[in-house]
Amino acid sequence: MQSHASFSDVSELQLSVRGPVFTPADSGFAAEVAAFNLSTQHQPDLAFGALDAEDVSAAVRWAAERGMPVSVQSTGHGATNAIEGGLLISTRRMLELSIDPLEKTARVGAGVRWKAVVDLAGTFGLMGLCGSTTDVGVVGYTLGGGLPILGRKYGFASDHVIAFEIVTADGVLRRVTKDEDSELFFLLRGGKGNLGIVTAMEFHLFQGSDLYAGGIYFDGEHAPEVLQAFRGWAPSLPVEASASLAFLRLPDMEMVPPPLRGKFVIHLRYAYQGDLATAAELLEPMRRSAPFMMDATGPLDATAFDSIHQDPDQPVPVLEHGFLLDRLDEPEADALLRHFGPGVDSPVLLAELRLLGGALAKSSDGDDIVGGRDAAFSFFMGAIAVPPRVEMLPSVFNAVHEDLRPAANAGTFVNLHGHFVDSEDRERPWRATALDRLRKAKAELDPHNMFSFGHVVGLPVIDQTVLLQDVVTAGGDAVLSS
Ligand SMILES: Cc1cc2nc3c(=O)[nH]c(=O)nc-3n(C[C@H](O)[C@H](O)[C@H](O)COP(=O)(O)OP(=O)(O)OC[C@H]3O[C@@H](n4cnc5c(N)ncnc54)[C@H](O)[C@@H]3O)c2cc1C
Repeated sequence: MQSHASFSDVSELQLSVRGPVFTPADSGFAAEVAAFNLSTQHQPDLAFGALDAEDVSAAVRWAAERGMPVSVQSTGHGATNAIEGGLLISTRRMLELSIDPLEKTARVGAGVRWKAVVDLAGTFGLMGLCGSTTDVGVVGYTLGGGLPILGRKYGFASDHVIAFEIVTADGVLRRVTKDEDSELFFLLRGGKGNLGIVTAMEFHLFQGSDLYAGGIYFDGEHAPEVLQAFRGWAPSLPVEASASLAFLRLPDMEMVPPPLRGKFVIHLRYAYQGDLATAAELLEPMRRSAPFMMDATGPLDATAFDSIHQDPDQPVPVLEHGFLLDRLDEPEADALLRHFGPGVDSPVLLAELRLLGGALAKSSDGDDIVGGRDAAFSFFMGAIAVPPRVEMLPSVFNAVHEDLRPAANAGTFVNLHGHFVDSEDRERPWRATALDRLRKAKAELDPHNMFSFGHVVGLPVIDQTVLLQDVVTAGGDAVLSS
């Protein structure tokens, strides 16, 4: 798809929509296209801030008439690869949010973040299936499956969607449910932004009571004992419990509290829903695994999910790489300690194992597009992408991946895949049958590849490592692509 937009075309777009249109020359353009991940600088030809579904529909029709590619962004938390050219539709003004406390359901517009849902649901004693941070967009997260904190008990967020409203490449707004357009419904629950722009979504909420959660910080020197204990403990947990272990090299910055600032620590994250005494008792083996620096576990309010992982809440320049593991035996533990253990000068800020299994391992209706459900752990690395260390990150990630490859699952989670480097990598989140179905639907619904940015199927990609090299050799600032 090529872009063909003249000055009068832009005026025509402005006349057909209610939200603001920005060209790169406009002062609001940079803010409109800015992503949470500061290492990615999107460079569309035009940006449009949609106010509602009609706006999205009009903009998509306008772009279709001109053969212009279209991308979508809500928060930019998933901005692992840059958008280049075309029309970027920003959904951040689409903030419709309502909750039906009796039915225990929520309806969100495309720009709503988890924080808003969690806060409103909490007033009714309910909760949604958010992940490690409530700062991400509900729609983008769920279109990628959505791996929640309590996923072992409830499954993926996408397992609990009731309806999507989506504008497809023909500009038509469709309501998609299990019974209305069931194939599209199947594909949207993990198929990411391949098939259109979701304008609203309805989904189930859950009782938000009886939560026990938080984190325990150990000095990094205890990594071998803590990892050893975690390997035995985590797989024995009941489905009510979720756990993850992170090797964290915390920056010497004010945003990090003093005992942890500038330190290498091991962060055990834990969440349980059920009997609180059982929750505390289950955690004991990990509390005893090594002397800890800080224990911040205990009863948790359903609006305080962010306190478990303590993810950054300010935009940061990061490069990410994730994959899945089928096991965490001694060879994998040894590899992790070789790359991230005490005494290692690793540029990786966060290397995180998340326990999978339980309800995550099976689709709620037996049919599924989320690849890698059968994996035992999700493994994710994130590193601050600033020169000069940014230069070494791709090879560091590759070396870790190579060492863990014997235990790696064939799939990845699209939300936690990180930067993709080629077409094969871009499509890796989907297994062969799911990929075939996605390609077939894409050929029918988006035959001209209007939606060609991010994790979409069947298209060539720009090599991110080349872009990285460009920045490094140009002695650039914290920008990976331009
Ligand atoms: C700190 C941090 C913690 C995270 N924790 C988790 C976690 O625990 N579990 C988990 O599953 N994921 C997690 N993620 C990943 C996150 O879910 C994805 O990055 C997700 O894409 C974020 O969605 P967004 O809309 O906020 O991001 P955006 O960057 O705005 O969107 C990302 C992509 O989602 C698609 N998309 C967004 N909106 C629409 C729409 N309206 N219609 C169609 N496609 C759309 C597009 O492909 C877009 O490129 C985390 C990410 C970060 C940065």
